[in-house]
Amino acid sequence: MNREIYEELGIDGKVYDFCSGIAEGLKERFDEIDRRAEYNQLKVLKAFHDEQVGEACLMGTTGYGYGDIGRDTLERVYSRVFKTEDALVRPQITCGTHALAVSLSGNLRPGDELLSPVGKPYDTLEEVIGIRKAPGSLAEFGISYRQADLKDDGSFDYDAIKAAVNEKTRMVTIQRSKGYQTRPTLSVDRIGELISFIRGIKADVIIQVDNCYGEFVDIKEPSEVGADLVVGSLIKNPGGGLCPTGGYIAGKKEYVENAARRLTSPGLAKEVGASLGIMRDFYQGFFMAPIITAAALKTAIFAAAVYEKLGFEVYPPSAEKRYDIIQAVTLKTEENLNAFCKGVQAAAPVDSYVTPEAWDMPGYDAKVIMAAGAFVSGSSIELSADGPLKEPYNVYFQGGLSWPHGKYGIMRTVQEIMGRSL
Ligand SMILES: *Cc1c(COP(=O)(O)O)cnc(C)c1O
Repeated sequence: MNREIYEELGIDGKVYDFCSGIAEGLKERFDEIDRRAEYNQLKVLKAFHDEQVGEACLMGTTGYGYGDIGRDTLERVYSRVFKTEDALVRPQITCGTHALAVSLSGNLRPGDELLSPVGKPYDTLEEVIGIRKAPGSLAEFGISYRQADLKDDGSFDYDAIKAAVNEKTRMVTIQRSKGYQTRPTLSVDRIGELISFIRGIKADVIIQVDNCYGEFVDIKEPSEVGADLVVGSLIKNPGGGLCPTGGYIAGKKEYVENAARRLTSPGLAKEVGASLGIMRDFYQGFFMAPIITAAALKTAIFAAAVYEKLGFEVYPPSAEKRYDIIQAVTLKTEENLNAFCKGVQAAAPVDSYVTPEAWDMPGYDAKVIMAAGAFVSGSSIELSADGPLKEPYNVYFQGGLSWPHGKYGIMRTVQEIMGRSL
């Protein structure tokens, strides 16, 4: 039955049989993912019940947005799920980078120092912090930055961290996901160990976790192991594919308020900010997020298993435990990288008929090819892939709003790369 519809969608029998066999072998892994998704789904549902989310919450406000019941209730729902005192969940937060920038600049003051104990943070934060010189960076406001790199084996360099903490250290930022680096992604438990260690050296620092791509992968979040703030993007996991924009900052009341004072203004903080007409998407997206994240996880593991079998190096390997939704495959040649992205694009629900082409992206030293045919522009909880056109031709991909779609997308990449030679 399925073989035929796959064939109608451009997957020939050999690719179908090869990939289906691999999917069959992943049943146990998928059961475990489903169990976590079930737990997380109920955790989110309980927060909806406890906060009495009602139909009025789905409406929007305009203008100042004073007393916006939908917005305020949603922030309490987030607080319950992340087990924090408070949260800021807003369409006025434009993306993950913005959420992180607001959290940092709201909580740091001139003379303070920021520490990253897990190496270089995500690319876009370099200009926020001023690692790369940029107008408006924290550095311009007299906020210094230090970093302790991870050891070669991916473990924490406790000596270097201890040496980096000093009387100026006010805030610590920990990136949960590897992002597009090759270091391992941190499990929530490892983040907890790191936080305990740092608190042992200096108890009163503010510890923030960049939670991008990590939400709902585990059954607990970094805010449950001592993080003061968790920060992320709504066009990734917690938006469930439905949020058209936005970001969140959840954590200790004082620190969330500080972030809100920066996002809006001192004195106004969380009191203003119209939710316009998108509260329904924010609620529904958060409600869907656990199973959407599970679909993305299955897709990533399936892709790892398929490309391993085809003889490519993959990171992380298919059998490894997952702590985020990103999968990297070393494709070895430019043709393969182009073909992979072509496959992802061809599998997309939107813009399936366009062919992605590499371009000179600002801030990169090589051309970058990207594939995404998404309902929400730039959304990376939807099936998407990109890679720089340089050795060893790594592709990074993530997302998949449903497991059948993710599965088809990966099959389509195999068809593009190997269809003829299998
Ligand atoms: C995506 C991401 C960001 C930045 O988010 P944008 O929405 O792209 O600005 C920051 N950190 C990590 C780890 C990310 O994955």
